[in-house]
Amino acid sequence: MSATVPDSRMVALIMALRAAGIVDKQVLGALERIPREDFVAAGFSKRAYEDRALPIACGQTISQPLVVAMMTEALCLTPRCKVLEIGTGSGYQTAILSLLSRRVYTIERYRTLLREAEARFERLRLRNIVTRLGDGMEGWPEQGGFDRILVTAAAAQCPQALLDQVREGGLLVAPVGPPEQQFITVFRRDGDTFHQRQIAPARFVPLLGGVARTL
Ligand code: SAH
Repeated sequence: MSATVPDSRMVALIMALRAAGIVDKQVLGALERIPREDFVAAGFSKRAYEDRALPIACGQTISQPLVVAMMTEALCLTPRCKVLEIGTGSGYQTAILSLLSRRVYTIERYRTLLREAEARFERLRLRNIVTRLGDGMEGWPEQGGFDRILVTAAAAQCPQALLDQVREGGLLVAPVGPPEQQFITVFRRDGDTFHQRQIAPARFVPLLGGVARTL
């Protein structure tokens, strides 16, 4: 880990997250320890501590800090959790997950994004992250069941392959619904049943099948 960011902008961001209803101290602590400016494109570092999504390479976005915090809180992570993340993107959410769980498996369909994210994990000495270039809609069957699965791209419905890879009693958090009506949804596995709960409206880039041909 690099030094904590001794930055008033970070302090202001954490206060804004608290004001917006994030109460989990572990989650707030993890956000405080990961320097978001290392994850945004060069021209955007001045805006890294604003509570907004920002563009990254390949036409994708780094999620808004409040959304990262909400989804992480909804996952109820423990240090024993084995986590699967779909949509590595910048790797920012992955880094937060890595501080709060045993191991994070993360899948991205753009090679460029994955390589950049891997370099960031290396720089921050985050050693419990395993990456894969591939189609996250298929999950990571060799490693399932997962205690937790987080999807950071939106689909009309949660892919069945991902639900199948949640262990009994485990949780999956994903933005679900049509483009203008997505909701961050929590699925809890109870045998073959999944109890669903919508926690907030959202606006994510789409979950797309296959590995990207470009980049
Ligand atoms: N958590 C990321 C958010 C990135 S945006 C961050 O904080 O930076 C969502 C990402 O999901 C994009 O990088 C996109 O390329 C990726 N994605 C979309 N469909 C995918 C799929 N089927 N498999 C893997 N990654 C996918």
